[in-house]
Amino acid sequence: MNNEKTQLSRLGIAGGTFDPIHIGHLIIAEIARQEFNLDKILFIPTGTPPHKMGYGVTPSYQRYEMTKAAIMDNPYFEISALEVEREGITYSIDTLKELKKIYSDKTEFFFIIGGDTLLEVRTWKDAEKVVKGCSLLVYSRPGCDKSREEAEAELLRRNMGASVYFIHGPMLDVSSTDIRQRVMTGKTIRYMVPPMVEEYIYSNSLYRSGS
Ligand code: ATP
Repeated sequence: MNNEKTQLSRLGIAGGTFDPIHIGHLIIAEIARQEFNLDKILFIPTGTPPHKMGYGVTPSYQRYEMTKAAIMDNPYFEISALEVEREGITYSIDTLKELKKIYSDKTEFFFIIGGDTLLEVRTWKDAEKVVKGCSLLVYSRPGCDKSREEAEAELLRRNMGASVYFIHGPMLDVSSTDIRQRVMTGKTIRYMVPPMVEEYIYSNSLYRSGS
């Protein structure tokens, strides 16, 4: 039975809204891949949460297409439609369960997250099961208090038996929110997103209004 499953020993999982995907996401994943010897990084754009539609999260198929274009030149990067196909909210625990069905029992899972997300892990559905099923690789983010991140990592280790490691690289002061605002106000986003993503944003008139 297990022979039918995808054999891979260390899988990185980069989940996000990716609205749009930017160089921060790509750099973090690439540095994590090398530092933690990951065989592959799976980018998983979220479905469109119904409650977010009101304030204009870009439809999931467009976020998926941008993500696909952004990662295509890296042979270690792959995209998964797992959450997009479901639409609505998909919890990390459900995604992890799905991935465990696809990959071999020997596969180790690593969630790649930013420092802001680390502070939310405790509030995730079945947080303890999630962190027992995968390690957390954390990239500090500007605006996050490093000592708070370290305290949170320690707390997750102690209270939930989590494996939390920090990824080492330069601070990346880029966010999807900032990129959307820049497009809205006519400011350049060149070099903040890959060229194909920039082109996609303009040709599909994304982020023109703040809706
Ligand atoms: P938004 O500004 O819309 O909230 P975002 O830039 O945070 O978006 P997401 O798609 O929400 O992007 O992020 C996916 C994951 O990548 C999250 O865990 C987030 O913390 C992490 N991340 C995004 N940008 C950075 C960055 N510059 N440094 C470190 N982590 C980042």
